[in-house]
Amino acid sequence: MSGPDDELTKAADALARRLPEPLSVLASIAYNYRWSWTPGGAELFSSIDQERWKLCKSNPVRLLREASAQGIERAASDDDFLRSAGEVWGTIEADLARPARSGPLDPKRPLAFFCAEYAVHQSLPIYSGGLGALAGDILKEASDMALPMVAMGLLYRQGYFRQRTDLSGWQHEYWVSTDPDRTPAALVRGDDGAPLLITVPIGDVELTAQIWKVAVGRVPLYLLDVDRPENDFASRWISARLYTGDPDYRLAQYALLGIGGIRALEAMGIDPGMIHLNEGHAAFASLELARVTQAANGGNGSSDHDGLEAAFDAARAKAIFTTHTPVPAGNDTYPADQVAHMLRGVAGALGVDPQSLVSRGRTHPEASEEPFGVTQFALRSSRAANGVSRRHGEVAREMWHQLWPGRPVAEVPITHVTNGVHLPTWVGRPMWELLDRALGEGWQDRVSDPATWAAVDQISDEDLWAVRRQQRADLVEWVRERSVSNRLSRGESRQYAIAAAETFSPDALTLGFARRVATYKRLHLLMYDVERTLRLLGGERRVQVLIAGKAHPRDDEGKRFIQALFSGKGDPRVNANVVFLDDYDLGMAARLVQGCDVWLNVPRPPLEASGTSGMKNVVNGGLQLSVLDGWWDEAYDGNNGWALSGALDFDQGAQDARDAAELLRLLEEEVVPTFYEREGDAPPSAWLTRVRASMRGLAPQFSARRMLEEYEDKLYG
Ligand SMILES: *Cc1c(COP(=O)(O)O)cnc(C)c1O
Repeated sequence: MSGPDDELTKAADALARRLPEPLSVLASIAYNYRWSWTPGGAELFSSIDQERWKLCKSNPVRLLREASAQGIERAASDDDFLRSAGEVWGTIEADLARPARSGPLDPKRPLAFFCAEYAVHQSLPIYSGGLGALAGDILKEASDMALPMVAMGLLYRQGYFRQRTDLSGWQHEYWVSTDPDRTPAALVRGDDGAPLLITVPIGDVELTAQIWKVAVGRVPLYLLDVDRPENDFASRWISARLYTGDPDYRLAQYALLGIGGIRALEAMGIDPGMIHLNEGHAAFASLELARVTQAANGGNGSSDHDGLEAAFDAARAKAIFTTHTPVPAGNDTYPADQVAHMLRGVAGALGVDPQSLVSRGRTHPEASEEPFGVTQFALRSSRAANGVSRRHGEVAREMWHQLWPGRPVAEVPITHVTNGVHLPTWVGRPMWELLDRALGEGWQDRVSDPATWAAVDQISDEDLWAVRRQQRADLVEWVRERSVSNRLSRGESRQYAIAAAETFSPDALTLGFARRVATYKRLHLLMYDVERTLRLLGGERRVQVLIAGKAHPRDDEGKRFIQALFSGKGDPRVNANVVFLDDYDLGMAARLVQGCDVWLNVPRPPLEASGTSGMKNVVNGGLQLSVLDGWWDEAYDGNNGWALSGALDFDQGAQDARDAAELLRLLEEEVVPTFYEREGDAPPSAWLTRVRASMRGLAPQFSARRMLEEYEDKLYG
């Protein structure tokens, strides 16, 4: 997908000219995120200058511009290094040269994937959590499968916030600007060499946007950016931050992404055969699709209601929609007048009253007191829709059945495609090498086939344990450093700062809890019964706990949950065995899911649409202890992890008490004893039997490969 005149190729060439000739291939590697899931890719950059690699947040473009002269010279004269670089580039080139997959999607008219956030890599901080992580994994898997896909999003120059906690455990937010010229991105340019610009009607103004291109393997990711001199200063802010709290800015972002996204594709000469709206943020795309259809059919249809409806039908026939939000309150709504104002320009172009567009976003279109709902609008604008787990599909049908009056809930046209994770991104190197040996040649091409994973049963306890220990040890080593620097930055005493670093052990049972701190994720269950938790932590058999997560800047309740964790501070059992890691991100997530033995997840059912972090842990040989909600509801079979009830209880206090008690009981009576049950020096056999059951059964089913094959079958066809 990247030709010789491609803007990324030019950017790579410009970077290559700054490097000694033998290293020029590194510039090409740096400008395609394919390196991040190519074996040896990350090692290549880190070996040039390990310290600098860390300082650059693993951004290869920055590294190549900022690495020390010695590091660069050493690499340029190191034959082994040059050979590895050649191999990595060879793998990437071969991948890019493959023909597109034949299937329901036409390579000449690719699928355009729309999402408000993408977690491709920590060096491109335009994501906040699970939605972005999923979108990033979808692009990478689409690339691996050679699916004809392009992706559309926004370039948030300040991204999502960074987190720092203070002595009391209170979260503080700060934003760091990324310099797009120092990320692996390049502006799309027109034939005249100037940046290709589009305009987007937002309220009363026509905003000008430019388009950045990022290569995610074979999939180009286009990111719109309104930080242009044509726009007034306040408007330039529209694409500054992900999920700003201000509703005007949010709506403007949605219009930019949806309407601007379609215009950008057209400006680039890309004619998508289908658009996939991943969550409702981009749903206004359908308005622009309708406008284009209407214009093609003879222009403004102000006097032609049928023509307008036909245009909306044509737009609908092209769009599919994935909903991710099983809570009514989590589905964005806006006052009708605010939306009508935002959509004035488009409504004018379509020749309709803006209020008639607003009514498309109501459950009951005629109910003028109802606000505009982004999800309702997206459901009405797409020909097919899905939830992201079996249970979430059921919840979504129940939640939205009023949009299809007269239909029984079971026949509401919202299906489900359970999420999955991109294995090459998440599986740790030691585990990857073990799977390479155990699963046979070409296993990566057969990851979604359960038969591929049958061979997991042949892996010996010794081999499996060695890998688990290695990945845990890597995590522990990193936690030692991180816990000290986090604690010292908060202003803690030296003695407290080093407490965890001194006691964390590569051989101790390691529990992980890391995710967005939203109320429904119930972080507070971890310290519901403080005395009992302290007994567990102080027991003879060591239990070490890693916790991370950000609360939305406007979510004070979430921040109080984090703060409550710190209230145990002072008890030596907590200081030494529990670490809160500031500033959860993709890089940290990878370390945690690779090293943790048990992944805890205690959402309030049925509010976990799917969850994916647990899947990432499973493919690394971790075990789940989770509420039967989201993906775990269809994954747990009694032998492959542990489960808490997923039943609904409207007495939330009682539910919390019950679940907290059951969580501790499982830890005390099952998890800890099984982990530490050993015959002499032998690995824990019963534990590893569970690990094998979990990997064998769950890895194929919760791989991104299975997910995209299912999207092809159920929705893209
Ligand atoms: C995978 C991932 C998530 C999603 O986690 P869940 O809580 O399981 O939905 C969120 N944030 C990051 C950084 C991730 O890598």
